[in-house]
Amino acid sequence: MPKNKSSEHETALAVSKSGCDLINDPQLNKGTAFSLRERDDFGLHGLLPPKCASMETQVYRIMENYYRKSDPLEKFIFLTSLQDRNETLFYRILLDNLESMTPIIYTPTVGLACQQFGHIFRRSRGMYFSPEDRGKIRTLMDNWPQDDVDIIVVTDGSRILGLGDLGANGMGIPIGKLSLYIACGGIHPSRTLPVMIDVGTNNTDLLNDSLYLGINQTRLRGEAYYELMDEFMQAVNDRWPGILVQFEDFSNDHAFALLDRYRDNYLCFNDDIQGTGSVALAGLICALRETGGNLGDQKIVFFGAGTAAIGIANMVAAGIMEDSGISLDKARRCFWFLDSNGLVSTKRGDNLAEHKLPYARNEEWLPDLLAVVKKVKPTVLMGLSGQPQSFNEAVLSEMARHVERPIIFALSNPTSKAECNAEQAYAWTEGRAIFASGSPFDPVEYKGKVYIPGQGNNMYIFPGVGLGASLCGARKITDSMFYIAAKTLASRITREKLAQGNVFPELNRIRQITESIASAVIRLAYDQGLATEPKSDDILKFIQSKMYHPVYKEYIKA
Ligand code: NAD
Repeated sequence: MPKNKSSEHETALAVSKSGCDLINDPQLNKGTAFSLRERDDFGLHGLLPPKCASMETQVYRIMENYYRKSDPLEKFIFLTSLQDRNETLFYRILLDNLESMTPIIYTPTVGLACQQFGHIFRRSRGMYFSPEDRGKIRTLMDNWPQDDVDIIVVTDGSRILGLGDLGANGMGIPIGKLSLYIACGGIHPSRTLPVMIDVGTNNTDLLNDSLYLGINQTRLRGEAYYELMDEFMQAVNDRWPGILVQFEDFSNDHAFALLDRYRDNYLCFNDDIQGTGSVALAGLICALRETGGNLGDQKIVFFGAGTAAIGIANMVAAGIMEDSGISLDKARRCFWFLDSNGLVSTKRGDNLAEHKLPYARNEEWLPDLLAVVKKVKPTVLMGLSGQPQSFNEAVLSEMARHVERPIIFALSNPTSKAECNAEQAYAWTEGRAIFASGSPFDPVEYKGKVYIPGQGNNMYIFPGVGLGASLCGARKITDSMFYIAAKTLASRITREKLAQGNVFPELNRIRQITESIASAVIRLAYDQGLATEPKSDDILKFIQSKMYHPVYKEYIKA
């Protein structure tokens, strides 16, 4: 297994910086926690208040200030500035408060932060490439100070959550996702790189905003777009051979094509397609433990037929084939898709996008969700449309008339775009729904029972897949790795959680979940002949030995 990937178990760190350079380096800074000996050795006396503090005291101070802020965006800005000055403390606090802080550093608040990106911008993080950099991307990559980078999360800002084209403002997504990678997946912060491919934006509000930070032009299209992406993929793999590239929030006109273009030649995946598919399949497997029945017996209606919906359908189809031993064609007959033009049907008379073709029903077109629910009588309803309140009372009560335990996943993000909220899902199904969402909802009390809605968050999946693939030096990432990740996640959900209506585990167990997913992925990579690193005798122990823990190390002079 990789020799060069730093083990986190050394307690002392050789450091060559001193004085203000040391304090101003967020990866090395300990602030008031520098010991007296370190202050002597590294020329820090006079630059810090005299009292040496413990990390616990620093945490206490940060949390006191954090709780003073009531506005989520203010909390986001506060945490970002902590990340900018002391990464160890930031990740300590994030890891200890994952449940409450994930909605701040990721969805829903990150959506707001992206919309306001140019207005709340403090300090640059990550790298930006634009069409003006054509021919120079490899050279520009030398400007990044780290020679060992394992994971890049990249976006072009074209479909940020359910908020549409946010151009270069979308950089909040790679930054937020990588913070989750570090907290949940234990990747060292210095080995991650957020990237924005700024190809312009068609969002006129942004183009007219004097504080917008992206290039001021409409989106690059056609061959020129793919040439830029090709150059980027070649350059990153030249600068950091074997690096993992995670595609995030690309609009569906490019998302599928980019994945197909690179998945066999580079270590990469698309989280919206494959990660979402995996997490939703895990939720569905768990929901079926409550409702009874097999995957292949379900009638699943997808509201939305884009990147995420197709990704879920692909993964569920793989599950149905494994469960029932039926063909892919037959497995796909369990699905009905709706897009903005109603039922996706071969009889609709428009030109269906390529990604919808395998799922087009060979039956009469129906105009809307209610008509489809009436006809199909689904057991599962998945919302991936970005259309708020589309699971209205008429739709959900109609569904509940035909099925004892309706499975309702309203997965659109952020919260404002969810197809329905948790309270509505329980109320309109008389408390019989098994509900999950993309952004978190608070527990709901309905007729004396407390329901805890699950959040189908991709962070249950991508850190484990990414960590596993990276540690064993996988040549590529396969769908079967996401499939095994779904099954591993599903096996982690307790009866107790299920009884409360939650089909996903507690976030405070995320590191153990990530370790077991990484372990399953590594085993599979060896079985599939895709791993390039020598195999460790104890894979789990090996993974644990490589994970980053946000604790201060003692500094000694380099
Ligand atoms: P997308 O743009 O690729 O797809 C959106 C789909 O919704 C398209 O098929 C579009 O035709 C359809 N749609 C739009 N208006 C509609 C209408 N009025 N009626 C029916 N369908 C309509 O986007 P995506 O990547 O598939 O993401 C969709 C949503 O899913 C986003 O809100 C995203 O945040 C969310 N998502 C959630 C998770 C998660 O919960 N883990 C993961 C990924 C994406």
